[in-house]
Amino acid sequence: MNPHWSPHVAGLTPYTPGEQPRGGIVADLLKLNTNENPYAPSPRVLEAVRACATDALRLYPDYSSLALREAIAALHGIGADQVFLGNGSDEVLAHVFNALFRKPGHPLVMPDITYSFYRTYCALYGIDVEFAALANDFSITVEDYTRPRAVIPAGIIFANPNAPTGMALAVGDIERILVANRDCPVVIDEAYVDFGAESVVPLLARHANLVVVQTLSKSRALAGLRVGFALAGTAIVEGLIRVKDSFNSYPLDRVAQAGALAAIQDVAYFDATRKKIMAARDGLTRDLASLGFEVLPSCANFVFARHPGRPAGELSRALRNEHILVRHFRLPRIEEFLRITVGTPDDCRRLCRVLSGVLGKS
Ligand SMILES: *Cc1c(COP(=O)(O)O)cnc(C)c1O
Repeated sequence: MNPHWSPHVAGLTPYTPGEQPRGGIVADLLKLNTNENPYAPSPRVLEAVRACATDALRLYPDYSSLALREAIAALHGIGADQVFLGNGSDEVLAHVFNALFRKPGHPLVMPDITYSFYRTYCALYGIDVEFAALANDFSITVEDYTRPRAVIPAGIIFANPNAPTGMALAVGDIERILVANRDCPVVIDEAYVDFGAESVVPLLARHANLVVVQTLSKSRALAGLRVGFALAGTAIVEGLIRVKDSFNSYPLDRVAQAGALAAIQDVAYFDATRKKIMAARDGLTRDLASLGFEVLPSCANFVFARHPGRPAGELSRALRNEHILVRHFRLPRIEEFLRITVGTPDDCRRLCRVLSGVLGKS
């Protein structure tokens, strides 16, 4: 450990993001490893972002991003004071962990397999975790979160659809979890909800312990702009704002606020691209199955698949040699799986053509 570090830094295991090539879009490289959108952002977003290149950049942005919060609130039929914005939903999640889950003696409850960043935040903020194992079919067992407990949890969190399985829980099941845990916050990370799962946003009106987190990175094709948000009751949002304003008052710059606003307003473009991706996912699922893969039922813009005959690490390396990146997590229970982002129909065809060649050789 370096003597200049604060003591806790030596014990941190940072999140490892999927590989990003230098310089952005590389000809011939098919990036199916970080669940980015294969389509461009809405043309209205590009226009709004260009319009930001003025001398107004010398001025600080609106620290509360009011126009953007109002647009998101209108989209979801809630109040602007129920919307909390951050520099990507990863930052929003960091503030959620800091503001809601740091309760010594009370563990955070989450699935053993879910978005791996949650563990990283627990280590960063000193939060104890209790893991509830997914069932053998990788579904969440609702009873794990509704049974009575000796100690009130600090909170509950999972992604819905879950990551990296892509499998979704029904709204009624999440409502049972909310009802059984009125004394603790229940955070549902809806990073992928726009690709076919049902959102729990309508439950906000009935459940003061619900926090919904969403992002513009996936379904609105803006991973590079860094905008995410949480939706919750005003009391919870006030706690999040306290933490945010003790960290960085201006998480969203002028460009991000303008681009995100245009993305939220262009509903027609959003609907058209997500529908194309959902259709491509269903085609990809069938094609992978005919190549012998077992594919979990996905409600996301990726599929999670394993091949009984070939180790995932070997397949991932073979794809990489053909300039196709996919994600392979070397973690217990899921080391045989590949997580593959759904691209355009052409992308999916190229992937399956290469896989078919690789599987043909033994
Ligand atoms: C991609 C992802 C995020 C983070 O998204 P950003 O808004 O780009 O930070 C959060 N949660 C899950 C489950 C994700 O897959």
